[in-house]
Amino acid sequence: MSYIDIVPIGEVEETVLSFLKQSIFQTFKIQTRIRNRPFDLSLAYDPVRDQYNSSGLLLELINEPPPETLKILGVTELDLFIPIFTFLFGEAQLNGIGALVSAHRLHNQFYGISGNRELLESRLLKEGIHELGHTFGLIHCFTLKCVMKSSTYVEEIDQKSIQFCKSCEQEVLHWRNGRSISLK
Ligand SMILES: [Zn+2]
Ligand SMILES: [Zn+2]
Repeated sequence: MSYIDIVPIGEVEETVLSFLKQSIFQTFKIQTRIRNRPFDLSLAYDPVRDQYNSSGLLLELINEPPPETLKILGVTELDLFIPIFTFLFGEAQLNGIGALVSAHRLHNQFYGISGNRELLESRLLKEGIHELGHTFGLIHCFTLKCVMKSSTYVEEIDQKSIQFCKSCEQEVLHWRNGRSISLK
């Protein structure tokens, strides 16, 4: 059995993780599970920016994965950055095992608007699928509603759908068939 592991980094609500587990299974048709493991968050923390280095967390995330793990999606509430960007919604290894997504700037509250749970979950799911998509070899797509469209602002996340366009979906299918991953 092969899994997409959803791994919380720091405190993440159980209901959010379960929502992602179900929805990501529906998207990729690959068994998905929540896997807890310890993180040394201090390694990635930048006290000057008061943010966490995304690439550092990603490296820690993919360190020594279990043999049955196919892909890893790290989920965090921490605010992520890489040196050339003020912030990131997420990061992933193209064709690799690991992807990372942050809910920090997906909350309405971050923008001074009252919270909306459904919207938060939908944004997190879109970005989670997007980052995982990169690990399946997908690059950014220019199809209007495709989830692989790149987003710099939450408004752009809200404009795209949670789905792959036909061409991106074909690539994911192709990847899965190449490894004959069964659902048993
Ligand atoms: Zn991307
Ligand atoms: Zn696409």
